[in-house]
Amino acid sequence: MTSVFPAASAPADVLPSVPVRGVRAPELPSSLVFAHSDAAVADALAQTLAELELRRPLFALGRAGRNLLGRSLVIDCGAQLECATVETAGATLDEVDRLQHVALEEKADVIISCGGGQTLDVGKYGATRALLPFFAIPTQASHDGICSPVAVLRGADGRVSSYGARAPAALFVPVHVVSRAPRRTLVSGMADLAANLIAVEDWRWAHRVSGEPYDDYAALLAQSGARLLIGRRHLFARERPFAAEDVESLVHGLVLSGLAMALARSSRPCSGPEHLISHAFDALGLGTGSHGEQVGVGSVLASRLYGGELGQVVELLRSIGAPTTPRAIGISFEDAVRALKITYQVRPGRHTLLSRAVTADPEFVVDLARNSWLDSDASAGEGR
Ligand SMILES: [Zn+2]
Repeated sequence: MTSVFPAASAPADVLPSVPVRGVRAPELPSSLVFAHSDAAVADALAQTLAELELRRPLFALGRAGRNLLGRSLVIDCGAQLECATVETAGATLDEVDRLQHVALEEKADVIISCGGGQTLDVGKYGATRALLPFFAIPTQASHDGICSPVAVLRGADGRVSSYGARAPAALFVPVHVVSRAPRRTLVSGMADLAANLIAVEDWRWAHRVSGEPYDDYAALLAQSGARLLIGRRHLFARERPFAAEDVESLVHGLVLSGLAMALARSSRPCSGPEHLISHAFDALGLGTGSHGEQVGVGSVLASRLYGGELGQVVELLRSIGAPTTPRAIGISFEDAVRALKITYQVRPGRHTLLSRAVTADPEFVVDLARNSWLDSDASAGEGR
């Protein structure tokens, strides 16, 4: 029987590339590759450059990224294309300016960052300002910036701020390199990822109480990323080296976090009260913790605001040996309380249950800190 409908111009499982009414088109990487060898990264990179008809890549390499993977990538890529290289030093707006300048001079048509979070942030924001596509090759998984549309940079006045940036057009995760990073970086990434559950719970609260726009898709992605790890929490032990599957769960989860932020066009699905505590530690220049470690310490307190499944976040932190008290990251209890009291100021416009509690009932928050951080100190025999 002949169909009354016109013949389809493409197989049924190929989506049309034109926008469809009612369907969102968020900025998501056109290419996402989890690679397990240097050669696999180089092959995937060459293929994506060819597909997108990009011929003049500019590599932004951190020192570690250059030694771990960048040098061999540039050599492989240089065999076929005109490649330029910049070595970046620190996540500052000055470095972004320098990168942008070189991109213009070299007539680059894509910026490729290979390195840790700072190198990625410089490349991400430099590409945004230069109106070029950006490729990310993270050599560490210490936080969820690996494919997020946010760059954290230090300005000339010394202040660290978050800047909206384009999400990577392509993301290549060298799992074999990330796995070899020091345990502390993996623990930091896991703590940052687990916090998504708290951030989403708080986002729902802000939506209910103050009408903040909420996005179920983005929330689902952020929660799913965190649950990849939380579901494995009984398999971890403080001293046991992470298995390949642990690292895969981490990088998959961090990618989902980045997609959630791209979809929401905000860091909100992955950043709630626990992140405000971390930002407050930064603002006061306290302690020696990494971003993820600070977020973990903040999560121990913030999870108590909600209860429910959020206790699982703390179980995970303990099972991987993440710091769970301010003291474990070199911050006295008194200083941590001082930081808590400014959490409502560190990110104007971000309404969290913690900020509300700090302004409405500061004594309640100090009690919460005592119960979360001092009891935990005594019971867990804190260490890294
Ligand atoms: Zn974070």
